[in-house]
Amino acid sequence: MKIAPRTHMLEIDSGGGRMFPVLTWDESHVVLIDAGYPAQTDAFVGAIAGVGQQVEALTEIILTHQDLDHIGCVHDLLKLAPNARVIAHTEEAPYIDGTTPPIKGFPSQNIHVDQTVADGDVLPFCNGIEVVHTPGHTPGSICLLLRDSGTMVCGDALNIADGQIIGPNPQYTQDMNLGLKSVEKIKALHPDAIVSYHCGYLKRDA
Ligand SMILES: [Zn+2]
Repeated sequence: MKIAPRTHMLEIDSGGGRMFPVLTWDESHVVLIDAGYPAQTDAFVGAIAGVGQQVEALTEIILTHQDLDHIGCVHDLLKLAPNARVIAHTEEAPYIDGTTPPIKGFPSQNIHVDQTVADGDVLPFCNGIEVVHTPGHTPGSICLLLRDSGTMVCGDALNIADGQIIGPNPQYTQDMNLGLKSVEKIKALHPDAIVSYHCGYLKRDA
């Protein structure tokens, strides 16, 4: 789904469900936010081609958090796009790079994180991608505010039900109180739209 001229929400089948990574780009960067389960690389290659981009052109892969359904294809994508840099929150990087076992018992993926970020950092491409630290689901969960379109890419920090923002899934959320505070933090920033990785797109006041 096209969110803005150079930002698309991709749609990846996940066996009974769908996942919604985001691809955004400018003249010199092609940025993927979240990267599916392992063995979904072909689906990513197809989805990226489907919006007129090429996986080989990826320059950044930003990971909202450590869970396997968000980082699974990184190794395979890096084989196709060896210059792409992996970005994650400082508190999340140890779980992604294998220093610390993943919180939910997923197998370690041992993905090298090229750049760690913190709350308030602004990545200087695609008209600015602002990092919003939203702990709760995991300690270093982040949302990404795409300043170009005012879209907040939320990973699993929230879900959508009946057109309303709801909290993260309690079953998979490490600290629900913190997670609900993070939802309020997201709302207080008044994004024009949000993307939930498992629920899709919601426009403000829609
Ligand atoms: Zn997830």
